Amino acid sequence: MKLQALKPRLTPLNTNRIKVLDTKAGATERVRGSAWMKVRHAVLLRDQYRCQSCGLVRMDNEVDHTVPLEKGGDALSMGNLKTLCGGPDGCHTRKTAEENKARTGRARG
Ligand SMILES: [Zn+2]
Repeated sequence: MKLQALKPRLTPLNTNRIKVLDTKAGATERVRGSAWMKVRHAVLLRDQYRCQSCGLVRMDNEVDHTVPLEKGGDALSMGNLKTLCGGPDGCHTRKTAEENKARTGRARG
């Protein structure tokens, strides 16, 4: 009897398919993990949860990379991070929308 290789029953997972910002041309993946969460928390404490642009204090304020990662900004250095307010009209939302527009030439995308 001749042995034959079994056909694989499962198609291999494409591990590249989960790219967070795939749809945004040129954008970098988001920073994740425990190192990020630690630095992020330290930045929020340093800034006392105060938006460094408009002064709004909110618990859900966001931590922004002053120099974006796509422009070579350091992902985890406190010096490149600041607290900005989130939400639809937030300073962070506005800043990332402007960066996105500069990158793609479009308002959204
Ligand atoms: Zn703000």
